[in-house]
Amino acid sequence: MLRVAVVGSGPAGVYAAGLLTQGDVRVDVLDRLPCPFGLVRYGVAPDHPKIKSISATLRKVLDHPAVRFLGNVEVGTQITVEQLHRFYDAIIITSGAAVDRHLGIPGEQRAGVYSATDFVGWYCGHPDAPLDRFTLDAHSVAVVGAGNVALDVTRILAKSADELRDTDVPDQVLQVLLSSQVADIYLLARRGPVQAKFTPKELRELGALANADVLVDSTELELGESDLSRLAAAPALRRNLDALQEWAQRPVTGHPRRIHLRFRVRPVEVVGDSAVAGLRLERTEVDQQGSFSGTGSTYVLPVQMVLRSVGYRGLPLPGLPFDDDAGVIPNVAGRVLRAGRPVPGEYVAGWIKRGPTGVIGTNRHDASETVAALVADAAALPAAPIRDPDGIRDFLAERNIDVVTWEGWRSIERAEAEMGRVLGRQPVKITDRDSLLRIASGEGMPGPRI
Ligand code: NAP
Repeated sequence: MLRVAVVGSGPAGVYAAGLLTQGDVRVDVLDRLPCPFGLVRYGVAPDHPKIKSISATLRKVLDHPAVRFLGNVEVGTQITVEQLHRFYDAIIITSGAAVDRHLGIPGEQRAGVYSATDFVGWYCGHPDAPLDRFTLDAHSVAVVGAGNVALDVTRILAKSADELRDTDVPDQVLQVLLSSQVADIYLLARRGPVQAKFTPKELRELGALANADVLVDSTELELGESDLSRLAAAPALRRNLDALQEWAQRPVTGHPRRIHLRFRVRPVEVVGDSAVAGLRLERTEVDQQGSFSGTGSTYVLPVQMVLRSVGYRGLPLPGLPFDDDAGVIPNVAGRVLRAGRPVPGEYVAGWIKRGPTGVIGTNRHDASETVAALVADAAALPAAPIRDPDGIRDFLAERNIDVVTWEGWRSIERAEAEMGRVLGRQPVKITDRDSLLRIASGEGMPGPRI
């Protein structure tokens, strides 16, 4: 029987664990957070219940008798990769892309500039995201980037608290949304509409918001020759363009919020004294290859808050190699490469393997490639010296690490359902790490910080 550790309980890790249970394998899924499901819990927008419902599938895997969940255990600090090898014949790292990319422009450190990662973490109730981080007293907000995360944060900013009440957002977040002063949201793309990374379904949602008008300048939708050939080659892009063209013709109805979609502009400076007063934008032009360059023509967009949403980046894990340029652990088809050679017993899946691209379902195929590599290597894997399945639990207990087990997680689920019931809402997230740990250890519902 093989013993495998999966590091990370997001979709890639849990899909990998599920595939492993089809063989004679015992799997421990470790996560640095007390709660499982990674970005499904802490990244998918709360108003996307269909995508969030994937957690029911992931839940079944973690509930499997051959799988154990070991939450609140950080690999790299509390237990090293080398120490993990003592307990497992193979390890699969699925630690994702934990940090955001920066703009690298003057003034980016000013108060009022945030990463989308922070904002998403805040409204998703991530234990590392302080609930008092955002006040939303800005009237105008710039969202930089033209991907699906930029759409998510724009949509959440544009929605009223009432529209989000029927979700699992923490109650404190709802209170901030209730007093939000945000009226204008500028979503800024540095290239043209054909190069934007939005998926059509997610883009179209903006046009159906009850509380916001979408404004598009038709002159920014004009297409060059390269755009036309790109459209011909990828007809799905036409659906984005159709939506944008429809909005460019649509009369403004006077909703309290306005979403301005701007193309071919890039931020070059955050303007202000101590806090953000504006974002200097430079107009760009896009060449035949789809690359952009600045035109030198700039203007200042008056905004009091900037959210950069320009992609994520993986972090190195101590004890494993790292490709700093790509932000991934170097690998071939999921086998970790050390000094250019695959290492039997070390694997990767998900964003730390391929970079932050694709939708949740992409991780299923990605994980199956990795698990296939592991299974092919199985006979040659160096056996872990400690075969007792309780060895890892003893190791962690000796170091006073409060492991959250599957039973502990189920207590958290029940507490969240109970809190939702008390508030007259569906299950509501408990965000504070101490509270989560107390509930998981069976101490019951804590005081008012949840
Ligand atoms: P993304 O899709 O890679 O988009 C990043 C955007 O930032 C691109 O438009 C990029 O423009 C722009 N950008 C990069 N550097 C910039 C800079 N210095 N200044 C201005 N703009 C800059 O990343 P993401 O939105 O973070 O999404 C990550 C992944 O999660 C994607 O695969 C996405 O589809 C997925 N996701 C899916 C959903 C969903 O299915 N509902 C929701 C959220 C996220 P260029 O193209 O010019 O580089």
